[in-house]
Amino acid sequence: MHSFIPPERFFPYLTWADIQTMPDKANVVIIQPVGAIEQHGHHLPLIVDSAIGVGVLGKALAQLEPDIPAYALPNLFYGKSNEHWHFPGTITLSAQTLLAVLMEMADSIYRAGFRKLVLMNSHGGQPQVMEIAARDIHQKYGDFLVFPLFTWRVPNVAKDLISAKELELGIHAGDAETSLMLSLLPEQVKMERAVAEYPKGLPEDSLLSMEGKLPFAWLTQELSQSGTLGDPTLATKEKGDRILESLVSGWVRVIQDIYKFRQPQGN
Ligand SMILES: [Zn+2]
Repeated sequence: MHSFIPPERFFPYLTWADIQTMPDKANVVIIQPVGAIEQHGHHLPLIVDSAIGVGVLGKALAQLEPDIPAYALPNLFYGKSNEHWHFPGTITLSAQTLLAVLMEMADSIYRAGFRKLVLMNSHGGQPQVMEIAARDIHQKYGDFLVFPLFTWRVPNVAKDLISAKELELGIHAGDAETSLMLSLLPEQVKMERAVAEYPKGLPEDSLLSMEGKLPFAWLTQELSQSGTLGDPTLATKEKGDRILESLVSGWVRVIQDIYKFRQPQGN
């Protein structure tokens, strides 16, 4: 049941009495991985974002010093994926439902006595929901410290291994995600079906862009026939291994930082 998570770090394997008697609960780091079940082109399975989140987290928890207490909650497989909803197999929650699930999970974690919660999101379509949830949870419980983090945002080597064009436009099922999947779940990657597809008709000579500082709303079907945005044919397992290793080191560091973190206090 724990997949990539080391069993001794898997929250659901604890008993209620383990939690009742756990020392220093205010600093125990509880991590909620949030993924998605959504189309990832012809060559990748629906599980990609969930697999990447749990894979990175599990390997980071395996490397973390044993004296830093940190536990992974079960992955939340369903996310807000309505940009992909024209493609069958995509399962989407509304923003309101996802927000309600996160808020009510947080109520339960707080009631158990924990005071540090990480929302570790791996799907590019929902960081905004994590940010709203984190602010609302912290506003409800002033001593509950909440961290809305995106899996890919820790320091990592993707920018050295992936082309500039791909870094900007390869945002879904492209080189980076495909390489990582070749490292994590190679038997689920069908490279012979991979096709490169970049969106056409993007604004030129314009302040507006797909994912930049001044974006426009889009649906995947408007930008791609295959569901891929990027060039997965460039992907290799070797690149994936290196990107994975760097994401894992980044997550070890950020979990250490959260364990030490104290909320800033004005006078
Ligand atoms: Zn993805």
